[in-house]
Amino acid sequence: MTDGPLILDGREVSRETRGGLARQAAEFTSRYGRKPGLAVIIVGDDTASQIYVRQKAKACSDVGFHSRVDTLPVDTSQESLLARIAALNAGDSFDGILVQLPLPPHISEEAVIEAISPAKDVDGFHPVNVGNLLLDKPGFVPCTPLGIMTMLSFYDIDPSGMEAVVIGRSHIVGKPVAVLLLRKNATVTICHSRTAALAEHTRRADLVVAAVGKRGLLTAEMVKPGAVVVDVGMNRLEGKKVVGDVDFEGLLSVAGAITPVPGGVGPMTITMLLSNTLLAARLAQGESAQAP
Ligand code: NAD
Repeated sequence: MTDGPLILDGREVSRETRGGLARQAAEFTSRYGRKPGLAVIIVGDDTASQIYVRQKAKACSDVGFHSRVDTLPVDTSQESLLARIAALNAGDSFDGILVQLPLPPHISEEAVIEAISPAKDVDGFHPVNVGNLLLDKPGFVPCTPLGIMTMLSFYDIDPSGMEAVVIGRSHIVGKPVAVLLLRKNATVTICHSRTAALAEHTRRADLVVAAVGKRGLLTAEMVKPGAVVVDVGMNRLEGKKVVGDVDFEGLLSVAGAITPVPGGVGPMTITMLLSNTLLAARLAQGESAQAP
C-alpha cells in the first residue's frame, strides 16, 4: 500500500449524520408541534463533565432539539436525585434522560441508571436495554459503540466474516461493541487486562477496536497489514493534548483503515446521543421507529 490507510473521519461522518438528524427533527417538530427533548443532569462541578454536558446541550440546539441541563450540588442526596429522575420519567417534556457520570461516591450509579425509564434511557445503560442488545431486540444502544458501527457502515466496512478483536470489556464500550460486531457476523474475541498474550490476538485480527485508556497500547508490530483499526482511547497529556490507545503514526504504514484521535470515534458519541434522543421521541409519539 503506497497511499496510506483510509482515515475514518468521525467529524465528517458526524457532520453528515447531524445534517440528516436536523432534517428529521424539523419534520418531527412540524408533525407533532413539539421538538425532541433531552434532559441532562449533572451532580457536582467536575470540569470535564461540565464540558461534556455543555457540548451535549449545544449539539441538541444545533439540530433543533430542546434540552435542559440541571446542575445539582455535589452533596445532593441519592434520594433527591432519584426523585428528580422519577419526575422526568413521568413528564412528557423530555424524551431522553441522561445523568452525567461519574457521580459523587455517596450516590450509587447502578441505582441511578436503573431509575431511568428504559424508554428514556438514551445512554443505553439500563439493564433492560443491555438485555435487548444481547437478545438482538430493539432498544437503546450505548452511544460510543453505536458511533463505531455507524462509522464503519459509512465507509462500507462490513465486519461479516472478519476476525474482530476488541480490547477492553467495559459496559459502555468494550462489551457492547463486541455484541454489535457479533450481530454483524464478525468472529469476535474480547481481550482485557488479564489477557495473557494480547499481540497474538491482535495480529490475526482483520478489525481491532482499542478501548482501554492506555497510550501506546497498540503498536504497528501488533497489527496485521491492511487491518481496520478503531481507536476509542482518550488519554489526556499534559498541555491538554488528547491521544488514543493506538500508535497512529506507526500504524500509518500498516493499517488499511484507521480512526484518528481526536476526530475519530469521539465526535460520533454525541451524534449517537442525538440519534437515540430522536428515536425516543418517535417512540413516545407511538411511531414504530426501528432502533439501530
Ligand atoms: P474502562 O476503564 O471502564 O475499561 C478499560 C478496559 O481496558 C477494561 O475492560 C480493562 O480490562 C482493559 N484493560 C486495561 N488494561 C489493559 C491492558 N493492558 N491490555 C488489555 N486490556 C486492558 O474504560 P472505558 O470506559 O471502556 O473507556 C476506555 C477508553 O475509551 C478510555 O480512554 C475512555 O476515555 C475512552 N472513551 C472514549 C469515548 C469516546 O467518545 N471517544 C467514550 C467512552 C470512552
